[in-house]
Order: sequence, then C-alpha cells, then structure tokens
Amino acid sequence: MEIDNIQKVQESKVKNNQQFIQEINRIFELQKGTHLQLAQTTYQERRAKLMRLQVAILETFKEEINEAAYKDFRKHPMEVQVSEIFPIISAIKYTSKHLRRWMRDQVVPTPISSFGFSSRIKYEPKGVVLIISPWNFAFNLSFLPLVSAIAAGNAVVLKPSENTPHSSKLIRKIVSSLFDESEVAVIEGGVPETTHLLTKAFNHIFFTGAPSIGKIVMKAAAKNLTSVSLELGGKSPSIVDQSADVEAAATRIAWSKSLNNGQVCIAPDYIYVHHSIKDKFIAAYKERINKMYGDNPQASDSYNRIVNRRHFERLKNYLEDARERGAQIDLGGVTNDEDNYISPTVVTELDESALLWQEEIFGPILPIRTFSKINEPIEYINSGEKPLALYIYSRNKKNIQNVENNTRAGGMVINYSATHYANPNLPFGGS
Ligand code: NAD
Repeated sequence: MEIDNIQKVQESKVKNNQQFIQEINRIFELQKGTHLQLAQTTYQERRAKLMRLQVAILETFKEEINEAAYKDFRKHPMEVQVSEIFPIISAIKYTSKHLRRWMRDQVVPTPISSFGFSSRIKYEPKGVVLIISPWNFAFNLSFLPLVSAIAAGNAVVLKPSENTPHSSKLIRKIVSSLFDESEVAVIEGGVPETTHLLTKAFNHIFFTGAPSIGKIVMKAAAKNLTSVSLELGGKSPSIVDQSADVEAAATRIAWSKSLNNGQVCIAPDYIYVHHSIKDKFIAAYKERINKMYGDNPQASDSYNRIVNRRHFERLKNYLEDARERGAQIDLGGVTNDEDNYISPTVVTELDESALLWQEEIFGPILPIRTFSKINEPIEYINSGEKPLALYIYSRNKKNIQNVENNTRAGGMVINYSATHYANPNLPFGGS
C-alpha cells in the first residue's frame, strides 16, 4: 500500500512536470511567432495597452489586489496603495509621456567619407523577454518591468514568485484579462518552472531577486547568450553623524525599516551612528516605533508579517545567533511562530562575526554600531559588496561630501531613506 502511494505521488509529479514543460514550450514558440508583429505596433497601440493596464490596476482589480496582498502576508491596504499601486501608475504615466519620443528614430550625422549617405538609429524591441519577479512587492515588481517591456514592443513571459501565491494568481488573472498569451503570458511556479524557463533562448531576461539566484539566472542566460538585467539586493547602510537631526533621522529610518516589515531591497539594513548620539538615537527610534504600532505591534493592523516560515526561521536564527554572541537587545526581539511575527527590534553590542552583519537582513531587525570618525563607516562600507542604497543623516557638508566621494552605491539619499525610488527621473539599480 505504502509503495503504491509513493508510486502514485511520483507518477503525478512526472505528469505535472510534463504539463508545465509543455505549457512553457508552447507559449515560448507562440511568442517567437508573434514578436516581429508586436515590434511594429504604433505608439498609439502601445499606449492603449498601458491605459488598459492602468484601469485594471486602479479600478477593476483594486479590491482584489488589496485582498491578495493581505492574505499573503498581512500587507495593509494603505501600504499596498503607496508601495504597489502608486509606483505602477506612476511608471505608466511617465512611460506614456515619453514613449513617442523614445520610439522615434534618431538621425545622426554622417562623416564626409560616407558622402551621399544618411544615417539613423532605429530603436527596436528585444523580442521575447522573460521577467522573473520576487514576492516582496509582488505587483509592483511584476508590473513595472512589464510596463517597460510592453512599451518597447516586446512579447513577455512573466514569472511571479511562488512565495506570494494569492498575488501571483491574481497577477495571472489580470494579465490574461488584458492580453492574448501570444503577447503577454504568466507562468506561475517556483524553481522547477523557472529552471525550465531558463533553458529557453529568450532575447532578454529581467530578474529581480537575491544575488545568489541572480548568479543562477546569469549562468543559464549565458548558455543562450541572452542579455540580462539583474535587480538584486544586499546590505544598505545608514550613517547618522553627530550633526544630524536625531529625531528626524530616527523617524525616517523607523518608517523605511518598517515598510513591508523591512522586507524591502533598499530598507536600511544597519545603522552606523556616532557614539555621542547613540542613546539619543535609540530612544527616538523606540518612541517612533511606539507611535506607529503602539506597545504591542502584533496587535496592530498595519504591521505586516514575515512572508513565510522559511524567512521567519531565517530571521529568528539571526536573532538567536546575536543573543548567543552576547548582543544587547535594546528593543523588541519578540517572535511568534504561529503567525510569522517578528517585532520591531534593535540590536547593539553585536559581535563582528554575527550573522546580522554577514547576511542581508530583509526584516524588521536593526543592528546598530558606533563610530568616532567618519572614515570608519566609509572603510567598513568599502570593505563589503557595493550596496544597492546608502543613506547619510548629517548637517555637516564635509561629512556628506566625504561619504559621497569615497564610497560607491547604487543610489544615495541625504537625510532621508528610500525616497529615491519614487523619482522616475532618477535611475535605479546596483552595480
Ligand atoms: P529570490 O531570488 O529567492 O526569488 C526571486 C525569483 O527567483 C522568484 O520568482 C523565484 O521563483 C525565482 N527563483 C528562486 N530560486 C530559484 C532558482 N534556484 N532557480 C531559478 N529561479 C529561482 O528572491 P525573493 O526572496 O523573492 O526576494 C528577495 C530578494 O530580492 C532580496 O535579496 C531583495 O533585496 C531582492 N530584491 C531586489 C530588488 C531590486 O529592485 N533591486 C527589489 C526587490 C527585491
């Protein structure tokens, strides 16, 4: 009986595997057959597609988006509005405004040696592109690259994350209500599905996720000489020097570390604070957290959960590791296995080899270290991977310039955190 059951499970797995492999092969071939027609669509046609997407996000599916995000990890509707819907609409508006110009051929001078010729640059879509998105802003990070890909006239296969199943299912529903699958198709699934997708010779892959998975994607893409855009994560530092407005710094860092429960690629990962203001900063941070979530953040309806058990255990393990190394918990440190809850937490006196210093935290735990001279954080930052974002809180121009000139980061914000993401006129990215 036991063996029969095992056999049945294996047979059904093989059948499922064959199903998704066939489905991916079918869609890929279908899109290969249509991308040249899509490339010839006009500005008006592409804009009309973006407008349809806008109506779907803002009106038709608005409530369903809120529900899915809440079911996945208790994301509050206000946060959904600010961090999922607003960026998509803003990208649609920005793209629609500039698209006509972006699509136009560019006439360039011809050297005298080629007298009699004229020269122009014609902008072409890539062809069939694959978008692989993460779970932390499931809608935003699926639809934002989709907006660019559609505007450029590509056919798209979109693979949202398996970690937010409600959102991914809804993304599929939204896309299939708007597009024929020969143009845009959603493949749901995890590693097996993505692994098969990566065997296909896409013309471009846009991947957002962890650096370790980015390496897998890049390696697979190299086999087909497929170009890649990698939007990865890492440890984004914040420096708070002795001249800073401590209250403002604590307020802004508390906000950006709490958004999505710290599960944000540009969240402040750790703080480097001047030793003379450390206690004042921690007191202000605690007060701010209390103002946002009260004495018991677990009871607050605007405090998200960690997305799943695996990430919850990962963060709990970082905390246990910190405790074992004799670190001081200045705020929180409370966890609850039943609902993947981790309270807003501040850790100080942390041993250099602690996991919290080694790994991207991606959660509401904030380690704090101190410095005496500004070159200390500069050297520390330069000794690690180039961060995706770097924040400095200071009123000292020399310190700001020193940090700006002597470090490298994907983006830098002075006296705020994470706000550069909201400006479509700024580039966003890492290395
Ligand atoms: P992840 O890398 O685990 O997953 C991202 C996607 O890759 C998912 O769709 C997943 O199904 C797929 N994937 C996972 N393992 C795979 C494998 N072995 N082979 C092929 N595909 C695989 O990332 P995540 O946990 O969803 O998101 C968190 C990470 O993403 C963090 O590191 C964060 O900093 C980063 N991130 C970066 C940005 C940015 O804009 N730079 C934005 C959001 C998140």
